[in-house]
Amino acid sequence: MSDPIFAEDFRAEPWWWHAAPRPEETPAPLPAETDVAVVGSGYTGLSCALTLARGGRDVAVLEADTPGFGASSRNAGFVGKVCKHGLGELVDTLGEAKAVAVYRELGAAWDYVAELVEHEQIACYFTRCGRFVATATAKQYEALARDLELKERLLGEPFEMVPHAEQRREIGSQRFRGGAIMPSLGSIHPGLYHLGLLERARNAGVGIFGSTRVTGIRRERGVFEVHTARGAVRARDVVIATNGYTGRATPWHYRRIVPFRGFMVATETLSTEQLERALPGHRTYHDYVNNIDFLRRAPDEPRILFGGLTGTMTDDLALMGRRLHARLVATFPELEGVRLSRAWSGYCAGTLDLWPHLGVEDGIHYAMGYCYAGLPMGTWLGHKVAARILERNDGHTLFAERPFPARFPFRGGSWPVPLAMAWYNFQDRLSMRE
Ligand SMILES: Cc1cc2nc3c(=O)[nH]c(=O)nc-3n(C[C@H](O)[C@H](O)[C@H](O)COP(=O)(O)OP(=O)(O)OC[C@H]3O[C@@H](n4cnc5c(N)ncnc54)[C@H](O)[C@@H]3O)c2cc1C
Repeated sequence: MSDPIFAEDFRAEPWWWHAAPRPEETPAPLPAETDVAVVGSGYTGLSCALTLARGGRDVAVLEADTPGFGASSRNAGFVGKVCKHGLGELVDTLGEAKAVAVYRELGAAWDYVAELVEHEQIACYFTRCGRFVATATAKQYEALARDLELKERLLGEPFEMVPHAEQRREIGSQRFRGGAIMPSLGSIHPGLYHLGLLERARNAGVGIFGSTRVTGIRRERGVFEVHTARGAVRARDVVIATNGYTGRATPWHYRRIVPFRGFMVATETLSTEQLERALPGHRTYHDYVNNIDFLRRAPDEPRILFGGLTGTMTDDLALMGRRLHARLVATFPELEGVRLSRAWSGYCAGTLDLWPHLGVEDGIHYAMGYCYAGLPMGTWLGHKVAARILERNDGHTLFAERPFPARFPFRGGSWPVPLAMAWYNFQDRLSMRE
């Protein structure tokens, strides 16, 4: 790249692939049959496969690209306890008991990841670093305080408001007017976490088949025939774990998922002083709007990872690199001359009701629709699908209770994304007004 904002080592691929390179391997021949065929090899598919294999099932994971090619090796590694519906909104719409139950399950998903990483000894920089949510106006600051007070009262989640005058201990940016620390949230190296799950699944006996795009699924006399670009596999059960990469091969799911893109960049290596001035709090960070900018330190090298402009409809990573660089510099003017070493994107899955969904349609299991928060939820719901297939008594989840909506005129694809983002951006501009 000749543009001065790109470093010599610039690559249009996730920073995470540096420590967790994509497994390059010739896929083994497909088995003629298996107990369970899992479509997709991200957190959902692997977590499901691991629990199934430990439960005694023969499992084949079928992946269109290299294992983990999807969002699971491309995300920001924020480990939160969130969904698109705020706790206050759920208290108003579902009542306090149900709202608390939903948020308790988000907490259970977080704990599940923490226990899995510890129990499986996955070296992936998992830490309870806490999150700093930054506000741009007094109005946002007050609204954030109200949100967090409710969470503390109903869920016991601690928080600390940080006024503008003290914000420098958390973030060295004058773009913000104070914020709040949520100390119980975490971060992870998403690529190493994925690789750890992949190894554990393989060691448990799961067959992982890359370059194996599923093209269709047929059911005959109670057995599924899963057709792929490399032949067919017969399976007693099938799990669809394709989230934002869901395609027409599974048309029922395709009509229910709105894929949208997330974008991130990684800076070149920074000096300790630069990093300490910008992100002294060592936390994960985002602003208090719908269409967030999100940032953190890379856990393995002195770099800042910065994401935003979610939902932009472009493949042009050089353009998105420039736009994110401009936002990084607007946040930290002293990083003006700092160049980028990476820019990348990945697909997330929105749903028409903004809820994640787990269920069974026409005998086929699925878990998807995490709306940008699938690191804990994908791991958790993948495990839940497996528990259901194993007919264990721990398969219950509130995210299986609602019907998975499809609504006319949506028939699949990303076309509603610009409309949704325009609405979010409009709301964000309103919330910026003092
Ligand atoms: C830039 C970015 C930042 C994000 N940040 C965060 C974050 O900080 N915290 C968080 O919780 N979440 C975050 N997310 C969301 C999170 O990464 C996803 O929700 C999660 O990884 C979904 O996991 P998954 O296993 O369900 O799907 P994926 O990891 O996307 O895997 C789906 C897989 O299915 C495969 N596939 C699709 N169709 C077929 C087919 N027909 N046959 C075979 N294989 C197929 C794809 O190739 C893909 O590998 C972010 C996402 C992005 C893109």
